[in-house]
Amino acid sequence: SLVLGIETSCDETSAAVVQDGHILLSNVISSQMEVHRRFGGVVPEVASRRHVERITMVIQEALDRAEVTQEDLSAVAVTQGPGLVGALLIGVSAAKALSFAAGLPLVGVHHIAGHIYAGHLVKPLRFPLVALVASGGHTELIYMPSHNRFERLGRTRDDAAGEAFDKVARVLELPYPGGPHIDRLAKKGNPTLDLPRAWLEPDSLDFSFSGLKSAVINLLHNARQRGESVDAADLAASFQESVVEVLVEKAIRAVREKDVEELVLAGGVSANSGLRNELSRRCQQEGIRLRIPPLELCTDNAAMIASAGTYRHLERQYAGYDLNAVPNLPLVP
Ligand code: ATP
Ligand code: FE
Ligand code: MG
Repeated sequence: SLVLGIETSCDETSAAVVQDGHILLSNVISSQMEVHRRFGGVVPEVASRRHVERITMVIQEALDRAEVTQEDLSAVAVTQGPGLVGALLIGVSAAKALSFAAGLPLVGVHHIAGHIYAGHLVKPLRFPLVALVASGGHTELIYMPSHNRFERLGRTRDDAAGEAFDKVARVLELPYPGGPHIDRLAKKGNPTLDLPRAWLEPDSLDFSFSGLKSAVINLLHNARQRGESVDAADLAASFQESVVEVLVEKAIRAVREKDVEELVLAGGVSANSGLRNELSRRCQQEGIRLRIPPLELCTDNAAMIASAGTYRHLERQYAGYDLNAVPNLPLVP
């Protein structure tokens, strides 16, 4: 099968062609990061307009690079949600138009399902597995017994991990997006400052990062009031350690609870060197197979959507032309 994927849930306009669910033929990503940087975050209206301007070109380029035509395709898969509604709608409309014009079945894909399938494009996923998806908008632990089957084990109750990185970076007056800057700064410091870990209820696999963010702000504020200075590198290292410790601990706990052998890491925060190192170390120690896709597949892209969409296509889970963008689409209906 040959599936075209389309992704426009946030600030990347992307289209890709994937063969048999796991062979990447093309993956075109047009990022809007530069456009949003001066606003310090993604501006929804600006994102939608950009998607409109780019989408047709990006789809054509994905077909060209894969050296296929519309007629060769088996299905069109598109991110249905979650995401910014105005942004999602551009992809959904484009997918419907292509599906109608080329007579192709239409598949709606959940964005988080896509993130997990990023790992499938490197080496076929081995089920059952647990996935930790940590990005600018999501922090979730998902259990997958087999293809196309998902169970949510935990999620953030407030800020996403990436969002916490970006907010703390802003407090430290680092550029947007702040995650990579905190990561770099943390390497120069030591985790000497006392910051909280949000474990929540003893058996909970949920996350919470807003308290940590507030603790960082309070720490800076109090130091300033006392006329003391805080070492930014130490603060970055302490903050990162707190986030990483909770992410790693809960991911390992989820793997143990579900008794699986494979852990998949996905989402933009998987670029974080502290998270990679600590998760690798713990997985090795515990005999867990850890899969971290390359970075260009960890951040938003359409190849992961095409891959996840292939397994819906194989089960004939098609959408009609009434397919709508759903900003808070649940992973399991
Ligand atoms: P979505 O949740 O819809 O995927 P998104 O586009 O914001 O939204 P990604 O593009 O997957 O998410 O990831 C971007 C996030 O990852 C940002 O919050 C960014 O700060 C964070 N990030 C990127 N590199 C690092 C890093 N080295 N350390 C920590 N965080 C990082
Ligand atoms: Fe994403
Ligand atoms: Mg992004």
